[in-house]
Amino acid sequence: MSSNRSRKQVADLGPPFLPAAVADAGAPCGCGRRVKADLWRRHKEPFGPIFSDNTPAEKGAWIQQSVIQTCECGSKVSIPLDPKPPRGILWLYGDEANRETQGYAVECYTLVGGTNGVIRDLVNGLKEAKCKLLPDLDPATWTVHCTKLANRRWRTESERFSDLTEGDVHTFFCNCAQIFKNAQRYSSNTAVFGFRKRMTDQDAERHARKDAKRIAHLALLSSAIFHGTGNGLIPRFFLEAVKEVRHFPHIEGWSRDSFLGSRHYLAHELLCHGNHVPAPEFLAPRSHPLLELADIHAYHLARSLMLQSSGRSPEVPMSMFGEFCYLAMINANRFDLVVEDDVPPKYIPRP
Ligand SMILES: [Zn+2]
Repeated sequence: MSSNRSRKQVADLGPPFLPAAVADAGAPCGCGRRVKADLWRRHKEPFGPIFSDNTPAEKGAWIQQSVIQTCECGSKVSIPLDPKPPRGILWLYGDEANRETQGYAVECYTLVGGTNGVIRDLVNGLKEAKCKLLPDLDPATWTVHCTKLANRRWRTESERFSDLTEGDVHTFFCNCAQIFKNAQRYSSNTAVFGFRKRMTDQDAERHARKDAKRIAHLALLSSAIFHGTGNGLIPRFFLEAVKEVRHFPHIEGWSRDSFLGSRHYLAHELLCHGNHVPAPEFLAPRSHPLLELADIHAYHLARSLMLQSSGRSPEVPMSMFGEFCYLAMINANRFDLVVEDDVPPKYIPRP
């Protein structure tokens, strides 16, 4: 990849998806000015830990502590990088959902997970909820697909789910929401959402959707990387594949480029607190219980937002899922981050 292309690529992504602490990074100069970190200048050598023998050993890595930049007055100023040594792994699983109303489209992407213990609790929670719904079925033999499970016609036509009533499914979804709430203190749950006006031109609409998805995806991963590595945890991302998955691990080009391709930039180094964060891996749909849980949250978030934007109330309010870090996409240049147990009403367009 040529440096020109990389530069363009990163410049295209722009800083709006960066956490404020990264976007505003800098240091004071003796002259009274503040030197703002040059986040998007391409450095010849990639940032990240350097190992003496080229092995990813825990010890013996050189971690860059600061970068030098020149102030307008000519003085050299040291900008601290605030590296954090890793002490564990943060397992994060993501899935998307989208909905369309008369005038709007809403895109949602949920990322859920935690360290090993939290993952175990979440997995067990889902297993229990599945056993309550269908006591005669081994929970390992079926997966939750919200869109289908919520659809009466689909249930009627299916062999396993035909006896389930609307009420059964509602109780099941409420029980699933409770799994998140029970683990909220220890888990790392983030969801991004963005409303956008739909366009009549099909091509323009397709492009707008693709752009919104890409930038929302970056904002979500950036936020998770910044907060995870800031707490000494290296995130490992497992996302539900957009296309059919044939190889494991399957890494989709756009996602890999956005992370490995940007290690030459200060923005990336500050985001990762001096750590190497592996590119996201893409898994087959519902191939892990946490992907099922991510689907459950994303489905309900998209549904809740869509219903509220047409003046109706969701059957399963998001508050039942407990506290989440919600990233609201205001426009291509701005995201708001709120930690709440529901999306604040000001982010939902009204009919
Ligand atoms: Zn100065």
